[in-house]
Amino acid sequence: MLTNDQLNQWDRDHFLHASTHFAQHARGESATRIVTKADGVHIEDRDGNRFLDAFAGLYCVNVGYGRTEIAEAIAKQAHELAYYHSYVGHGTEASITLAHMVAERAPAHMNRVYFGLSGSDANETNVKLVWYYWNVKGRPEKRKIISRWRGYHGSGLITGSLTGLTPFHAKFGLPMAEVVHTEAPYYFRRPRRDMTEAEFTAHCAAELEALIDREGADTIGAFIGEPILGTGGIVPPPAGYWEAIQPILKKHDILLITDEVVTGFGRLGTMMGSTHYGITPDIITIAKGLTSAYAPLSGSIVSDDMFTVLEEGTDKFGPFGHGWTYSAHPIGAAAGVANLKLVDDLGLVQNSRDTGAYFQTALKARLGSHRFVGDVRGEGLMAAVELQRDPGAGTDFDAGDKITAQVVGAMAKRGVIARAMPQGEIIGFAPPLCITPAEVDVIADATLHALEDVTGQL
Ligand code: PMP
Repeated sequence: MLTNDQLNQWDRDHFLHASTHFAQHARGESATRIVTKADGVHIEDRDGNRFLDAFAGLYCVNVGYGRTEIAEAIAKQAHELAYYHSYVGHGTEASITLAHMVAERAPAHMNRVYFGLSGSDANETNVKLVWYYWNVKGRPEKRKIISRWRGYHGSGLITGSLTGLTPFHAKFGLPMAEVVHTEAPYYFRRPRRDMTEAEFTAHCAAELEALIDREGADTIGAFIGEPILGTGGIVPPPAGYWEAIQPILKKHDILLITDEVVTGFGRLGTMMGSTHYGITPDIITIAKGLTSAYAPLSGSIVSDDMFTVLEEGTDKFGPFGHGWTYSAHPIGAAAGVANLKLVDDLGLVQNSRDTGAYFQTALKARLGSHRFVGDVRGEGLMAAVELQRDPGAGTDFDAGDKITAQVVGAMAKRGVIARAMPQGEIIGFAPPLCITPAEVDVIADATLHALEDVTGQL
């Protein structure tokens, strides 16, 4: 049996972790948490510590950990057929069944799905779908994609460009020229404090129009947005936002991609976040909740209108020149089929709606009027608590205080994992969709007590 010391040494010497300070990690200054097992909403590390995972991994383990139905489906698939590809019309029972199940759960006008492996590669596929679409339509100059500041759409080259968070751009020479960003629909950080929500929505719409005018609608192929901003701070849009944005896109012949990597399959208390906000997209990105992360799988769901153009294109130009070796990987697909069944059988969309409402109320009750809390917000089972030094005056903590990192650290000591969101002083929550009201209370209490642990002396 390997000792912790041995594993930690190998980790520092060989393992480059995602989004990690390489130097500190290699020097052993940042702790490695080696997670060994999990069940329900709890994870356990190698030291035997047990935590309530209030972020479901990276808001992906929607059905909770340790589901034997999915583990068995994966094992069965691996025994029978570990792999076959999906090039030139090949498929497997699992991938075809999952495509059908996705179409059943997507908005009625969307019936076809292109499978990938990650949210990032699905958005990469989406950009190529958009570019292909406008080429078939004889308008190849419609190449630019509008994204929002604080949007998160992946960390590849074009997808990292779409992501509107500067750490994903700086030192990489991004964003790429095809990507332009517009105002984040972030009411708490509105330009003027006296703006009403309706005025702020009108401001976001006007900013979008101005950007389209500046760039030229003839050069813009699509707009991409998450129904509610996720990694950028867990920010529901201001009232009327999607109602205001969609007609502008329509007027200028700009396709709409809703990135539902986080919101797809129940997180907001509806099967799809697009439905929740009355959005009618041309493409939907799905990933995390598709398999609850039991195996990597993502997808791009396309509308029937868009598919008509793809058909026309392939009739004219031949096969669609795009694919990954692992597109529609049978093990991911088997996990997806078992996962979506479980979401139905356990009534998790309904639980997300009901326990989600309880969660929002519980967080507001404990933290809403705390002297260092500027904002408590969320929708369904996604929520955020934004910290400020003086909420009344609107003064922020210094980034150097690392206040959120400290609070999240204190929460872990109290047995609850939340996420310090990457930009701003924001504690993020997105527990598995099977969470109970009693577990919600544990999360809300731990947050309040950890905040007191850290700020009690201030
Ligand atoms: N889109 C959204 C909305 C996401 O939240 C994420 C990941 N957090 C991605 C895309 C990228 O997914 P992946 O990390 O699987 O590439």
